[in-house]
Amino acid sequence: MQARLNQNLLEAIERIEKARIAVDRRRIVQLVAVSKYSTQEEIATLYACGQRAFGENKVQDLQQKASALEALPLEWHFIGSLQSNKINALLQLKPYLLQSLHSLELAQALQSRLERENQQLNALLQVNSAKEVSKSGFMPEVALEAYARIKGECKNIKLCGLMSIGAHTEDKALVQKSFELTQNLFSQIKGAEVLSMGMSGDFELAIACGSNCVRLGSTLFK
Ligand SMILES: *Cc1c(COP(=O)(O)O)cnc(C)c1O
Repeated sequence: MQARLNQNLLEAIERIEKARIAVDRRRIVQLVAVSKYSTQEEIATLYACGQRAFGENKVQDLQQKASALEALPLEWHFIGSLQSNKINALLQLKPYLLQSLHSLELAQALQSRLERENQQLNALLQVNSAKEVSKSGFMPEVALEAYARIKGECKNIKLCGLMSIGAHTEDKALVQKSFELTQNLFSQIKGAEVLSMGMSGDFELAIACGSNCVRLGSTLFK
């Protein structure tokens, strides 16, 4: 298993590097290994290959894996839709970054628990850039206003950028359009640092459109 995962990781890093160098030699692109379909053994193995950041989309899975692997200094990203009854459980795990802040209600609920616990949370605002009903996130038209509002009202949430999932289609032009839309919003936010776009099927295009954080699952754990 180690040889296979190591090979996958090296190939992914090579592809990221190639895409990055083609557009911007100075940009650093972070790789988050999405482990939602993977076992704790696979995660530990990929860590042994040098990967440190992992992403989960269910609080219960994150709980289990983080506790089983707590001896390792892993950086956990939460990338799923967070239900309000799971907020406490997530915050107890002290995730490195909540990538999927998808509504004002969620921000407000997070803020009140964070304030009570005197805790801070790094987060990205999720943008539904392809306006798909199946996806959560702010519509592009209201994303900037929501970003400013959360920054102003939710002092314990440290917003540091945007996350978006590319359009769910084989049509590359449409995927590109959804990335460019998010990139355009990102460029209008003063001080924003992280633009998280790109999954196994579209990360090179995402990097070409300004992404500095890719979330790869299937191509790493295949
Ligand atoms: C599952 C998932 C990914 C990884 O998808 P792959 O196609 O397996 O690389 C990335 N981002 C989010 C939000 C996901 O849910």
